[in-house]
Amino acid sequence: MASFFDLLRDIIHPGYCRRCGGCVAFCQANNYGALETSPEGWPQFRNAERCLECGVCYQICPATGQLTAETRRRVAWSAPIGRVMDSGVFRSTASSAATHPDGKVGLGLIEHLFATDRIDGAVVLPTDHVFNKASQLARTPDQLRALDDKGLTTSQVRAAASSLEVLGSVRKTGLRRVAFMGTPCQVETVRKMEILAVPPAERLYCTIGCFCDGDFLLGPAQQDRLEKLGFFRWNDVRHITLRDHLEFWLAEGKTRDIPMEDLDFMRRYACRLCTDYSAQFADLAVGGTGAPHGWSTVIARTPLGQAILSEARQTALEPFNGTAASQTRHNALYTVCRLAERKQHRALHSSRAAM
Ligand code: SF4
Ligand code: SF4
Ligand code: SF4
Repeated sequence: MASFFDLLRDIIHPGYCRRCGGCVAFCQANNYGALETSPEGWPQFRNAERCLECGVCYQICPATGQLTAETRRRVAWSAPIGRVMDSGVFRSTASSAATHPDGKVGLGLIEHLFATDRIDGAVVLPTDHVFNKASQLARTPDQLRALDDKGLTTSQVRAAASSLEVLGSVRKTGLRRVAFMGTPCQVETVRKMEILAVPPAERLYCTIGCFCDGDFLLGPAQQDRLEKLGFFRWNDVRHITLRDHLEFWLAEGKTRDIPMEDLDFMRRYACRLCTDYSAQFADLAVGGTGAPHGWSTVIARTPLGQAILSEARQTALEPFNGTAASQTRHNALYTVCRLAERKQHRALHSSRAAM
């Protein structure tokens, strides 16, 4: 049985680790302290002698290719971007959504799940400061709104490896049904964890995946280059939204766009090999891609996702009904498909270059 020793050899040391956080969060020797996350976000042994060599970490890792066929079967996956049962362009009906770059769709969906008593907890992504995210667990609608005041986001311009650690911590709570919001690679890990029935899979209600073009390294050199590419000063940035480009929202509502192709200098190596843009394994996939400013594209991928979207659009979500609404919905899905294909081509090119 392949274990964390094999994960180190096959995935982590060669640079393929996506830093999803799953191996540490769901390690079967978690209580004995076998694994830990390094200060830089890499999984590592804390005490190798505690490893049970059970193989769970290797099987759930999204970079090993294990359980891929089962994962696809579970969500009735089909090419090129996974199953699409329903889709549209929405924003939250919360009053604060009208002026938000992505329309606070994540907030709307999770508020709806709380309001209809579907969940008693949600792992969400508040932003501390533009690129910085730290996942947190909201146990009540009030806690959710407090996190939203910090800036709840579906814009995956930087993954938070802590998301799965927070989900893993649900085991130690009395929560019964939890919604999980994260990157496509994290959603894939969660699906594999469900297949293996690794706790707290039994407490997971639904997964909301955010469109993702990469996790970016952000140090002083990268900030400096972004400022030059976008003609802005970092201190003026208020929000960042991922569309078919990276959109920087500055003070006084001004925006600056940087094409994603120009960001290879800061995209992490493992993300160049990743093929999932549109959260193919999630119940619901969301993000600003293809939607007009102030709105988000939502794709329902499973019967559960479809039911949630269908109910939420009556209450918590407002559908885009502006001029050419049906054309807007069509364009949104088309843009997601186009960017998903671009990511798949980039991964193919990068893996060939690595051979
Ligand atoms: S105990 Fe299992 S899940 Fe934990 S590191 Fe060892 S092989 Fe991986
Ligand atoms: S991709 Fe995730 S599961 Fe795989 S080694 Fe990295 S952190 Fe662990
Ligand atoms: S590009 Fe892929 S590997 Fe990187 S954060 Fe996004 S989903 Fe994860």
